[in-house]
Amino acid sequence: MSYDNNNIFAKILRNEIPCEKIYEDEYVLSFYDVNPQKKIHALIIPKGKYVNLDDFSSKATSDEIVGFIKGINIVAKKLNISSDIGKGYRTISNVSEHGGQEVPHLHFHIFGGEKLGKIVE
Ligand code: AMP
Repeated sequence: MSYDNNNIFAKILRNEIPCEKIYEDEYVLSFYDVNPQKKIHALIIPKGKYVNLDDFSSKATSDEIVGFIKGINIVAKKLNISSDIGKGYRTISNVSEHGGQEVPHLHFHIFGGEKLGKIVE
């Protein structure tokens, strides 16, 4: 599984392409999806070069994995959709061909701000 340094999220991480940033720390960058599918549609990506969840799970350090999972909670809180201060959300990660992954840098979608429908069609 080789990483494409020219994928669009790699360019965002290198500040070559702008994004509407929500949160950033040493492990993650979160920004709004350019083509929102729900009232709130955010993305969160690891800073490291991982193609998808399988690549990340098998190669990332424990600190990177913890930083990423905690990042989801931080972003949800910032968006006021976490289960403690808001009404909740859905996070999904498309993996490879059958998952419908378009951008080959690991990302989780974070949907919220409204009642969500079926998980899959
Ligand atoms: P996926 O199908 O899971 O790979 O989803 C990729 C997502 O990235 C889509 O929802 C796109 O709308 C989104 N996307 C693509 N380019 C950008 C960009 N430059 N800024 C923000 N979101 C983007």
